[in-house]
Amino acid sequence: MQVATGSSILNGIAIGKIRVYKAPEYKINEDIVEDPIPELNRFEQARVKVQEQQQVLYDKAVKAAGEDSAAIFQFHMDMLDDDDLLDACKSIMVEQHHTAEYAAQHGFENVAQMFKDMDDPYFQARSADVLDVGNSVVASLLGLDTESLQGTEPSILVAEDLAPSETVRLDKSLLLGMITREGSSTSHTAILARSMNLPTLIQCKDIADDWDGKFAILDGYNSCVYIEPTQDLIDSLTKKHNEDLKQEALLQELKGKTNTTIDGKTIKVYANIGGPQDVGAVQANDAEGVGLFRSEFVYLNSKEDPSEEEQFQAYKRVLETLAPKLVVIRTCDIGADKTIDYMNLDKEANPALGYRAIRICLTRKDFFKRQLRALLRASAYGNLGIMFPMVNSLRDVRESKEILAECRRELANEGQKVADNIQIGIMVETPAAAICADILAKEVDFLSLGTNDLTQYTLAVDRQNAKLEPFTNTHHPAVLREIKMTIDAGHKNGCWVGICGELGADPTLTETFLRMGIDELSVNARSVLPLRKIIRSTDLSKPASDDLQL
Ligand code: PEP
Ligand code: MG
Repeated sequence: MQVATGSSILNGIAIGKIRVYKAPEYKINEDIVEDPIPELNRFEQARVKVQEQQQVLYDKAVKAAGEDSAAIFQFHMDMLDDDDLLDACKSIMVEQHHTAEYAAQHGFENVAQMFKDMDDPYFQARSADVLDVGNSVVASLLGLDTESLQGTEPSILVAEDLAPSETVRLDKSLLLGMITREGSSTSHTAILARSMNLPTLIQCKDIADDWDGKFAILDGYNSCVYIEPTQDLIDSLTKKHNEDLKQEALLQELKGKTNTTIDGKTIKVYANIGGPQDVGAVQANDAEGVGLFRSEFVYLNSKEDPSEEEQFQAYKRVLETLAPKLVVIRTCDIGADKTIDYMNLDKEANPALGYRAIRICLTRKDFFKRQLRALLRASAYGNLGIMFPMVNSLRDVRESKEILAECRRELANEGQKVADNIQIGIMVETPAAAICADILAKEVDFLSLGTNDLTQYTLAVDRQNAKLEPFTNTHHPAVLREIKMTIDAGHKNGCWVGICGELGADPTLTETFLRMGIDELSVNARSVLPLRKIIRSTDLSKPASDDLQL
């Protein structure tokens, strides 16, 4: 048995034979042609043919993965209508007298290089899309068959890399999973794979041609692939895979239904995300909104302090795509386990109790304002909620709101559009915030319980320390009482109250939370539909089915 590791972009298991995909190879020479007119005509025919193919791909992707994931093919179609790009190709034929395929290859490559040289990572990533379309035009001109990727047997596809057009062209009924040597988690191929719910391993450096035809198990939970696995491994992972399949069936049935109990109580079930790359999962799992966008991932994914503009683009993309759904973006929660070199934070003896989250933001006002301005500008594109983390006191909330108001005034003076109806909330993740929830609730529209930290601080157990696992009772009555206190205090003072920590997805507590009066649960996207199932089978008019001591 061989084990190769990579980076998993989706939890899940694929079991079957491997098919190693090799992109067709061809060489285009620098032939000179006397008359450019036939070449221009050939180029135009290929352009129209690829436009039609992209339309088919767009329709297919909308069906398989939703409009957000399909948007890339609209981008491809726009590219094929772009005068600058087409002129770049045509001038190679008219002025340099090269063939249509040479012009298509070099014209698209030049434009792809321009995208690559841009500062914005979003546009840099689009460079691959330009090349992808260029390759389709060249393939069409050369009459190459690009449809023979998969063979006839369902398999785990292994490739150096896969372009979005290749990924969506794949017949899903023949596809068990994908493994690539290259790829990034924000590439469109990854986005498509996630929304198609395909176990996928990227950056798997050990892929090899001789894997072709071998039996393998891709284990997305452990980010690895087993080539010719042992029988024990086959048995245990097949069992896990069958459990996953049951979940899949559940997902399909519950899409479009409400989160309503048998006796008629409805709550919201939102998803937690770390950035624009996770929006596909929000849609694919039918979440009603985003209850926690951990904005610090935008900072962690950047080599330097992200500018207001970079942040604005990231927040806008999420808000615009999900509108009119509510998207709650938490302001930067850096510090403790989430450290960033460019922030130059001192090493501390007790980082979880240290200089982190709102404490950093309130003392580095320029840093904070950059984010708040980006958020306010993005608010014009959707339904935004802003949430402050690690709030302990009235002072924390009031100062944060004052700085937010200052940013709003600045943007108004600059003539920038900002939404009027932004909901403001705080995370309740310290015992101080839970105990004083009635005081804090008067200042905001909603409270969201961060049970990961609330448990850590209430039980005095470092959440980073694996040795403390046996001492961490997430159902500890102290934590549950704090949750109940916070819900009651929020309701008495005009707030809706949610849970965005991991406990929100704990199915054994769903009924308890419903009985406590929770309004919203925000969980990882794949837990949205399983929670819907539990909520829909709960009857709060009957005696409680658990005996939790509160
Ligand atoms: C929490 O503390 O429960 C929470 C949601 O925030 P994080 O896990 O990012 O600290
Ligand atoms: Mg927290």
